[in-house]
Amino acid sequence: PYTYENSRRLFEKAAGVIPCGIYGHFSPAPLVPPENYPFFAQKASGARFTDIDGNEFIDYMCAYGPMVLGYNCEPVDRAALAQLEKGNCLSCPGPVMVELAEKLVNTVAQMDWAFFAKNGNDVTSYALMVARHATGRKKIVAIRGGYHGTAPWAQTFGHHGVTEEDAAHMVRIPWNDAAAFEAVLEQYPGQIAGFIATPYHHPVFADNEMPAQGYWQKIEALCRKHGVVLIVDDIRCGFRLDLRGSHVYFGFTPDLVCFCKAIGNGYPISALMGTDALKSAAAKVFYTGSYWFSAVPMAAAIATLDEMARINAAAAMLAYGEKLRDGLIETARRHGYDLKVSGHPAMPYLRITDDPSLMLHQRWCGECTRRGAFFTSHHNWFVSAAHTEEDLARTLEIADEAFAVIGDNPQKK
Ligand code: PMP
Repeated sequence: PYTYENSRRLFEKAAGVIPCGIYGHFSPAPLVPPENYPFFAQKASGARFTDIDGNEFIDYMCAYGPMVLGYNCEPVDRAALAQLEKGNCLSCPGPVMVELAEKLVNTVAQMDWAFFAKNGNDVTSYALMVARHATGRKKIVAIRGGYHGTAPWAQTFGHHGVTEEDAAHMVRIPWNDAAAFEAVLEQYPGQIAGFIATPYHHPVFADNEMPAQGYWQKIEALCRKHGVVLIVDDIRCGFRLDLRGSHVYFGFTPDLVCFCKAIGNGYPISALMGTDALKSAAAKVFYTGSYWFSAVPMAAAIATLDEMARINAAAAMLAYGEKLRDGLIETARRHGYDLKVSGHPAMPYLRITDDPSLMLHQRWCGECTRRGAFFTSHHNWFVSAAHTEEDLARTLEIADEAFAVIGDNPQKK
């Protein structure tokens, strides 16, 4: 099994000059037990990355979503480099910005315009401002446990540095509960500006949940009836379920859709898209950033969208995800364990159900990682269009070896 001396040494150095050493979603904190995980990556290609100790991993986190076509994807990098030779961050946007907006409008169903930023958080926050300006209302309904970034409004009071007032106009309701939304609409008549949710519920440390039959259609109808702006946070699912947007996959029409992650195969760019009805409201909200007009990520995004369409990336990820799911469930079964896989096959969340504490599951994920399949235990995984049959076969071998290390389920013997 792998060892990580260089990662450990560099982490100690990092902690001297960077708060937390590595912060946010890349923090080693949830990588339990930590001795099973690398902390720093050196290089990557296709569906694999190599850490600074020279260990190679089949990557099931895909940079937590941005990598969708494989690392160092040739057509994307070629487009980015060609743009870099012309210019990147200049005093006016390049024509590439208009080209990307046109491509997105022609790709994503029912959306008439696109606005670009860098991170997911930028566009979820902008979506709220647009909804508030368009309706003249303050309150936003969101899902309990739903993640929309680290802006203070998106965090919970009690998180460090977040005040009660930051989320004063947020109303949180349970996922898949249209009746709860109806109750909130009655409780705050004429005060709800927007409803924001991810296409399906993908919390950490918990099974992921698809929308119940008719859920989105009920939410859409309630939004229409009460003049509420329907915002889809498609930052994590976007382009993995359907190139036309996850609202197509689930059969409803939102007013605003937030994209990030997969849109540029790792180049920094996010987008808010919306319908014509909200275009003038969006135009009035002042919102911008130092790097938001950079041309290189825009060129990369055009190439990523073209390549995803050319190879039907969503279908490839679904097919790989289904084989991975079925193979892992069968491997677990052979060792007497029940592995529950929830969410979409391209973004599966896994849990060994014989282990409510998750400790066994954490150990299994860690033992897989130490053998070359990078599995986290707390977060949904991601597959990419670059994962191959060879990656799949090796992953299942590793999963089998890791079950052998933790031992067959004693209760099922
Ligand atoms: N919304 C969702 C659904 C996300 O998954 C994320 C990122 N994990 C965000 C918003 C925030 O995106 P960013 O970290 O780029 O600000």
